Amino acid sequence: MDYSTNDNKSISKKKVVAVVGGGLVGALNACYFAKRGFQVEVFESREDIRQAKIVKGRSINLALSHRGRQALKQVGMEDTIVSKGIPMHSRMIHSLNGTQSPIPYGKKGQYILSVDRANLNKELLSAAETYPNTNLNFAHKLLDWSTETGAMTFVRAEGAKEEIQADLIVGCDGAFSAIRKQFLRQSRFNYSQTYIPHGYLELTMPPINGEFAMKPNYLHIWPRNTFMMIALPNLDKTFTCTLFMPFEEFEKVTTGDQVIKFFQKYFPDAIPLIGAEALKRDYFHLPAQAMVSVKCSPYHFGDKCVLMGDAAHAVVPFYGQGMNAGFEDCLVFNEIMDQLNEDFSAVLPEYTRVRVPDDHAIADLAMYNYVEMRAHVNSKWFLFRKYVDNF
Ligand code: FAD
Repeated sequence: MDYSTNDNKSISKKKVVAVVGGGLVGALNACYFAKRGFQVEVFESREDIRQAKIVKGRSINLALSHRGRQALKQVGMEDTIVSKGIPMHSRMIHSLNGTQSPIPYGKKGQYILSVDRANLNKELLSAAETYPNTNLNFAHKLLDWSTETGAMTFVRAEGAKEEIQADLIVGCDGAFSAIRKQFLRQSRFNYSQTYIPHGYLELTMPPINGEFAMKPNYLHIWPRNTFMMIALPNLDKTFTCTLFMPFEEFEKVTTGDQVIKFFQKYFPDAIPLIGAEALKRDYFHLPAQAMVSVKCSPYHFGDKCVLMGDAAHAVVPFYGQGMNAGFEDCLVFNEIMDQLNEDFSAVLPEYTRVRVPDDHAIADLAMYNYVEMRAHVNSKWFLFRKYVDNF
């Protein structure tokens, strides 16, 4: 199928933009391009998550900050998303002896929001779909694309292959981007990928008597030298707890009793709140997940293809800024489109020029914080500051 205009004289409004990946950044990006009047085709490898019973994702909830909100605002989505978020005005530090100390995020009234990842993704997909010039193509997994012709090859759920052409390809297909693979074959493309030794797993803290088990308007943190647990509130009055720990430590805990012993030693106050039986069971529900940091440059290929979100810059989650930075990519690209009259041959290099240093800085800050956390295990005060300053 050839969606592209192939007509140099045709005005850019008629051009077709293929957004590959209908995750958080892809769905938001579709709104941006649709608002500008492009014909937008979103290709997402999963089935439509709005119809799925279980939505697999990288984390159940995440922290939305000012950076991400600004990007949502531009396409009229800020209020919808904020209304379903839970404000977190402070961190709440849980010490080993059970005392809790709040540390505000900023001045009075400033806060970040805990938002449900699946709901955010669904809302953004539905927002994109309200534009008559947008199509959402689910169960379309990109296999490959040609830098010479721009043709993209997708495989459908039933195994059939489809070839599709567009005027601009926007790679929003996440940390393991298939779009980015073609960039790797190009001369002068810089790329680095680092897995950190820590993994993470998520646990649910249920409500008690229909109410939150802990104070809801906080991002709860249990800093424990090389380990750390955090908990963010959900609208259903549960908390999602995320345990970050080196893989070698995860591997030492192999039975339910060992889980309880481990929690008794490091997170005793969390045991009655999560529930000992649930803890023993849920700890083994999924294996610990890896965390990768990806840096690359440039973010564009000619006037044909551009990377955004985790496809351009996967960051370790210790700054809570991965999605927020990806949302900001969309906002910045949109501003450059205004400045350069939607001329892709000028916009794409300018986007790389402006955006690479900022995204790399976020990746460095996130990694720096992670490294500092490990390097200063003996300096409790330093560690404490490091943990709490950036979450
Ligand atoms: P993704 O969310 O990975 O979406 C990519 C989409 O592309 C998916 O829908 C996928 O199915 C699709 N896809 C993949 N391959 C193909 C293909 N070949 N063809 C078609 N479609 C494809 N960020 C924050 O800002 N705040 C936080 O608090 C925060 N917490 C985090 C906690 C954890 C534990 C982790 C791991 C990450 C966290 N992040 C956070 C980072 C955030 O999750 C990512 O930055 C964000 O999901 C990036 O969005 P994306 O759309 O670029 O990629």
